[in-house]
Amino acid sequence: MPYEPKVVAGVEIVPVCDAVGPMGESIRKPLPELFPGGAFADADDEWALHFHCYVLRAGGRTVLVDTGIGGTDSPAAGWAPVPGRLVAELAEVGVGPADVDVVVLTHLHSDHASGCVRDGVPVFPNARHVIQQAELDWVGGPMRREVVEPLRDSIQVVDGDAGLLPGVRVVHAPGHTPGHQCVEVGDLIVTGDAVLHPVQLADPTIPYAYDEDPERAVVSRLAILDRAAVIAPGHFAQAFVPVRPI
Ligand SMILES: [Zn+2]
Ligand SMILES: [Zn+2]
Repeated sequence: MPYEPKVVAGVEIVPVCDAVGPMGESIRKPLPELFPGGAFADADDEWALHFHCYVLRAGGRTVLVDTGIGGTDSPAAGWAPVPGRLVAELAEVGVGPADVDVVVLTHLHSDHASGCVRDGVPVFPNARHVIQQAELDWVGGPMRREVVEPLRDSIQVVDGDAGLLPGVRVVHAPGHTPGHQCVEVGDLIVTGDAVLHPVQLADPTIPYAYDEDPERAVVSRLAILDRAAVIAPGHFAQAFVPVRPI
């Protein structure tokens, strides 16, 4: 566990690193193609993605934001460094699968949602899984078959912004995917893939090659960075990153 937890607005936020590694051949591109217009010190550098999940604890409740890349048979196996370590990492911070009351899936990309199902069965048996309606309307292929279908009895559909616990809410932040959502805890925002890389902190208008709707993603990113004092991003090397006024 390399990361220190934080307490914001009475909520403990514990980062968990599911995996670290480069994109696989199937989707790998040079950084200047992934983030057109971004200023890179060395454009030949390989992007070593971290795959973060975040545990939020408050009032005796445990919320898990994102579930990582999953096992060797995951839909992410074609490009991400499977298997993820999520369950072992959660154990390190004293969280068993049955302790998780709520799972928030920021979106249904394979590196964020695959870890909540294993062998066709939900990994977190007591959790409801909070997903945006727009994301469920959009998702198809293996993520629908192998993740959404096995979860169907434990999905809580939200449509837009919604409170989760006192001081914690989900906020619809579309663009990367149609139903992408972030989790706000006071002035800290768990950003999922609304902010992918540090170049988008330097210039939030830098798009990402795999955004579904890059222009909408920019609008969402600007709104998030306007509100947040600290972000908790999915793929940065750091678990918490202060935001300078923009
Ligand atoms: Zn994504
Ligand atoms: Zn991602």
